[in-house]
Amino acid sequence: MKKKCRFEVIKGDITSLEVDAIVNAANNSLLGGGGVDRAIHKAAGPELYEECLNLDGCATGESKITKGYRLKAKYIIHTVGPVWHGGYRDETDLLASCYQTSLKLAYQHKIKTIAFPGISTGAYRFPKDLAALIAVNETKRFVSKNNYPEKVIFVAFDQENYEIYRKLLEK
Ligand code: ADP
Repeated sequence: MKKKCRFEVIKGDITSLEVDAIVNAANNSLLGGGGVDRAIHKAAGPELYEECLNLDGCATGESKITKGYRLKAKYIIHTVGPVWHGGYRDETDLLASCYQTSLKLAYQHKIKTIAFPGISTGAYRFPKDLAALIAVNETKRFVSKNNYPEKVIFVAFDQENYEIYRKLLEK
């Protein structure tokens, strides 16, 4: 498969996608928060919360997988992005690690299509340009070496993120 068709950017709500897995920008408790996390828990239903209770949280930069329950997506990969503190607290490596650990889980579960939101670019205030660059670089690196996932979809919730990803993927 050619590299080019393995990436796509769309604008919209990640919870509505028909993909094998969606990624959740969760917090360390994995027990729900605001933004995309809230939307995913609302759409997946209370069974998701029940499963998350047994996961014992998640460290920043790490990822854990659950079922998708009422979503069309079969799986949810919960990853915990870093809070932006000006770039002095290993934020870029931690965000790269979110993509790496999510993709590794996708590989292990033979996930063909995976959709990522802009991890850390909401309440966690990571600069959008830099976050998108890390997202694109890490996923490109991973898919060039692995058969799974076959397709990566970047989901932009706002026009600004949409334009940023579109430009990066054109290159
Ligand atoms: P974080 O705490 O990691 O910053 P947020 O949920 O606050 O997580 O924001 C992460 C990104 O997800 C932001 O770019 C935000 O605009 C986006 N977002 C919020 N809701 C949705 C949704 N339903 N679908 C896709 N992206 C979303």
